[in-house]
Amino acid sequence: MTEKILRAHLVEGTYKTGNDIGIHIDQTLTQDATGTMVYLEFESLGIDHVKNELAVSYVDHNTVQVGFENADDHAYLQSVAAKIGAVFSRPGNGICHQVHLERFGKSGATLLGSDSHTPTDGGLGALAIGAGGLDVALAMAGRPFHLIVPKIIEIRLSGKLKPWVSAKDVILTVLEHFTVKGNVNTVFEYTGDGVTDLDVPARATICNMGAECGVTTSLFPSDRETLRFLAAQGRGEAYRPFAADKDAVYDGLFEIDLANVTPKAACPHSPGNIKDIKDLAGMEVDQVLVGSCTNSSYTDLVKTARILDGHVVSPKVSLGVAPGSREVLQMISENGILSSLVRSGARILESACGFCIGNHQSPKSRAVSLRTSNRNFEGRSGTKDAQVYLVSPETAALAAIYGKVTDSATVDIPYPVVSMPDRYDADDSMFIFPPKDGSEVKVVRGPNIGDPPKGVPLDDRLYGVATIKVGDKITTDHIMPAGARLKYRSNIPAYSTFVFENIDSDFSRKAAENRDAKVANFIIAGYSYGQGSSREHAAICPMYLGVKAVIALSIERIHQANLCNFGILPLTFRSEKDYQSVVQGDTLEMDDVHAMVRKGEFVLHDVTQGADIALDLVATDEQKEMLLHGGLLNLLRDQRQDEADRNGNP
Ligand code: SF4
Repeated sequence: MTEKILRAHLVEGTYKTGNDIGIHIDQTLTQDATGTMVYLEFESLGIDHVKNELAVSYVDHNTVQVGFENADDHAYLQSVAAKIGAVFSRPGNGICHQVHLERFGKSGATLLGSDSHTPTDGGLGALAIGAGGLDVALAMAGRPFHLIVPKIIEIRLSGKLKPWVSAKDVILTVLEHFTVKGNVNTVFEYTGDGVTDLDVPARATICNMGAECGVTTSLFPSDRETLRFLAAQGRGEAYRPFAADKDAVYDGLFEIDLANVTPKAACPHSPGNIKDIKDLAGMEVDQVLVGSCTNSSYTDLVKTARILDGHVVSPKVSLGVAPGSREVLQMISENGILSSLVRSGARILESACGFCIGNHQSPKSRAVSLRTSNRNFEGRSGTKDAQVYLVSPETAALAAIYGKVTDSATVDIPYPVVSMPDRYDADDSMFIFPPKDGSEVKVVRGPNIGDPPKGVPLDDRLYGVATIKVGDKITTDHIMPAGARLKYRSNIPAYSTFVFENIDSDFSRKAAENRDAKVANFIIAGYSYGQGSSREHAAICPMYLGVKAVIALSIERIHQANLCNFGILPLTFRSEKDYQSVVQGDTLEMDDVHAMVRKGEFVLHDVTQGADIALDLVATDEQKEMLLHGGLLNLLRDQRQDEADRNGNP
């Protein structure tokens, strides 16, 4: 299936596993936290109008408006969307992935989003990929998106899920097997008879959280269930049937009998730290939150309400419910489900990312918080010592009633069988569709809207310091904190003061001092550096602070691309021993950097330790050019200038 879609969209390169190829992108999506930078970058390309089939700008992340900054961002996004021909989804309309699935997703299409959970649309058979903002801006400008032809792993499903077990438990089973590292440049394709037991919202939950494994994307076939969902959304024309060929050859196989899947939880502080619910039963719970782009569909909320029906939330628990979209909220408000949730004591939250990104609902100190979302990195909830567990809506609802993690086998509550509705209450009135000609639209730029910073061409000699050394699984949340800091995302100098805030609060001061003294900053890291969110700020802000290289045992796919886009060398140690040998504060140097970039092999001299260390640069030829020019924006500017010179236009 993946190969069929990639081949149908291939515009550059040769299709062969491991090759770098360019594909045409049909649709793009952005959300506000990454989106302001995407549109600023798009504007800096000097292109008037979106060139792909559909671009949608969602506002779902920074909807809590304390201070003017978020509202400034929203006003900019609304006006620039009208100017360049993008659809604008207004605040309150819902979470980008849930809304896109409902209203725009198309089977067989390519979708690129400036958010790592863009693969959600794989649930209806789209090849949906998360990427850095600049890659999305370029796709909107009609340029091909470059990726490595992935390995394709078949996840063959058989059987049927038992009561009290749902899609979240399936993806937690996948995470238990594949873990959160070692899956770069891989796609998970779901096949087998068990697929027919899963409706599109369930498939979307599974694809959504495949992102936690670090895969490029996840994909379900487009079949009768897909048509049923799209027809219920009044969008049957978006359906294109396809499935894997019977003799399709895969790079690996993982089989799951759905009947054997048990309720599970991802335990603190990683989505890959999986335990069975029966082993956690009895653990007291302080907070339960149902929502996020993983589990906020109509069926998820109806199930939650039916389990809670006739009960009042335990006095020990604060229960919050955030519908994934205005469509879901409207439907549950009209059929009595909303009042049932309210009667049970649920706090109804805005249809937005909210708690998932730590924007609100931070739990009390040392709290146990059960959430249906997809990430439980330390501190992401806004409370550093909170213990966050990721669970299904069923497990969440039982914990809300009993005040503790509860094994469904021990309760006397009938399992609610909830089917997808035959007709969704679709209402597109909160989208603002762009005018045919936006040239007269005035773009609104409040004081929170800055310019995208530009890098400087790479020096041939780098002399600097290991400004910070970190361990394994450093997420982009560690590099650029979200929550209360999110509102600075359109203001790079201000946001840069928070780089690594929760690991080394002095990092940004030290790095800025080095930069001003013309001393390069190096980041030393363990395995899976840059996992998690696609936020390109985790590259932009370090670039602004004068970081010249990240040297790690491994670097995650989207972050590696973001580092190249912003002119930071993504280098990997050949030996774990060398990673161990570098000490924070060591003086480091590299000579003949340009030649080493072209070769893809580096020698780092650790002056303090008196050692030479072998490193690899894993980058495509185009990425090497970006690195030499100081980032993709510089490369494009220089290419435009070269073309103008050739045409005699200075
Ligand atoms: S993971 Fe959370 S913050 Fe990211 S898009 Fe989904 S709901 Fe929003």
